[in-house]
Amino acid sequence: MTFEAIDVWDRGAVRMIFHNRPDKRNAESQQLLEELDAALDAASVDPKVRVVVIGGHGDHFSAGHDLKEGQAVRMKFSLEERWEYETRLYTGLCMKAWDMPKPTIARVQGACVAGGFMLANMCDLVIASDDAFFVDPVVQTLSLAGTEVLIHPWVMGLRKAKEMLYTGRRMYASEAAEIGMINACVPRTELDAEVDRLADRIAEAPPFAMRMMKRSLNRTADIQGFRNALEAHFDLHLMTHYTQERVEIRKKGLESTISKVRKE
Ligand code: ZN
Repeated sequence: MTFEAIDVWDRGAVRMIFHNRPDKRNAESQQLLEELDAALDAASVDPKVRVVVIGGHGDHFSAGHDLKEGQAVRMKFSLEERWEYETRLYTGLCMKAWDMPKPTIARVQGACVAGGFMLANMCDLVIASDDAFFVDPVVQTLSLAGTEVLIHPWVMGLRKAKEMLYTGRRMYASEAAEIGMINACVPRTELDAEVDRLADRIAEAPPFAMRMMKRSLNRTADIQGFRNALEAHFDLHLMTHYTQERVEIRKKGLESTISKVRKE
């Protein structure tokens, strides 16, 4: 299978899956998400693959869903069309990453925004460089109830999730490591070495035991209501695509939205 919007290669037993639109800050277009979806399926069933790393080429992990494409193609979506699209390529893809039968690591540098942040959070482990920042500004910028997958309280605690989502502020990797949202913050020059070291070590484990370990850990979250909470959030998120507040923001145009993304 050939990919254009992502780059996929193997490093031993580690499957590397990278966003590959560096000139667009790795914005996630429909094509990119379709390719990610296919790449995750392929990695899941390939017996040679024991660990999956999701990253991005260039200066940034991902600026999030491609809003320019969204404006051009999906602005007129009915609720039914939007439900189909977002269920498949947003929540469905994220749950696919979460449910991967193999451990996953997000390798994050630069911007990790909204949809990109959501995807990175669905990985089992996150390693970021010290220039990385995480942000989910869409309550303030798009009048939406956050991104489609409300994983934030599960990975950073309710208090920080509220602060981040209410203010739309950036969280840099050092703070993210401090509160346990990510596993490590390392200098930019050491990011690849750190990710490789971690992935190789995990790849040494017997794959079935690892698979069962992950299943059990994820099931712990499910017993606490993880999956139901995410599904309930998606319903409200979708509703906010069709509010008067949303209509008003849309009228002001995309440039106005982008200008509202805070630089701090
Ligand atoms: Zn949405």
